[in-house]
Amino acid sequence: MMIDADHQAALRHEAEHWLFDSEPPVSLYPRQEGLPRIRVAKVIATRGCWAQCTFCNFSYLVKRNRRSAPAPVIDIAQVRHAVRERAPVDVIKLVTGLSFGEPSMYFTQLIASVRERRDARVQAFSAVELDHLSRRENCSARQILVQWRQAGMDQLGPGGSELLIDEVRQRVSPYRLSTERFLEIHKVAHQSGLTSVAGLLIDRQTKPEHILEHLDRLSTIASGLDAIELQCFEPEKSPLSIVPGARLDQILRALKAIKTMYPHLPVRLNQRTIFSIDREVLLAEAGLDSVLQTVWEVEP
Ligand code: SF4
Repeated sequence: MMIDADHQAALRHEAEHWLFDSEPPVSLYPRQEGLPRIRVAKVIATRGCWAQCTFCNFSYLVKRNRRSAPAPVIDIAQVRHAVRERAPVDVIKLVTGLSFGEPSMYFTQLIASVRERRDARVQAFSAVELDHLSRRENCSARQILVQWRQAGMDQLGPGGSELLIDEVRQRVSPYRLSTERFLEIHKVAHQSGLTSVAGLLIDRQTKPEHILEHLDRLSTIASGLDAIELQCFEPEKSPLSIVPGARLDQILRALKAIKTMYPHLPVRLNQRTIFSIDREVLLAEAGLDSVLQTVWEVEP
């Protein structure tokens, strides 16, 4: 759905109110029903990553010494077995760190092996991996996406965590792709007949103006998005454990801002961030559409 510039500006103005207003968006009489669950399986190709983003638990496990052994990658037979034997899910998410060893063909085979499960959507990797592979193999992101789509990919994932503000990216993830490249890869995915999911990472220090700017940036790809995942920084899983996670009122404000600017897009949040019925009721009231619940996970 395309939104014209005037309408987008009016929605942005309304979103500003939710982010900057002194009253948190909490109802005194919230509705009581729980939110729908999206059952997720995670296939982790490798936990090693050279990119060293400070907030990431994949980066945390990588040794900086170049002579150390590369992180192991998952065996295709192990993935096939899990896909056949484990419980049914709605989405299979393929995720990985950035490795120097595996070619894009390895990831194509991984996609084909999970596609055996016809009843689940296959969300494969993200703009970060596509940028890395296209540079390493000297080919375009479009060429890799064509192969992946033929193998059974349905949509491009949001990546571990994104805040499309280059100044922040330079500070916490200087080796990841730029905002411009992120948006370009999502557009290529949409032109290739795929949908994609965007993320929004927030922590205690995320400024409301950064959230607005991030949402502005998404306007150029919003028509091809399937959903937005609101991702809350988890300090205990990161080398940045001294930075506190997002407060509930920050999450509620960000949620309201997303729903105001992109009312047609479902917003999802991970089950881990909810952790209580009270929180779920407040989040549902603020417009959260569904909860991502990991049912099973395989890794090397
Ligand atoms: S966020 Fe992505 S690119 Fe950054 S260290 Fe983690 S896996 Fe690597």
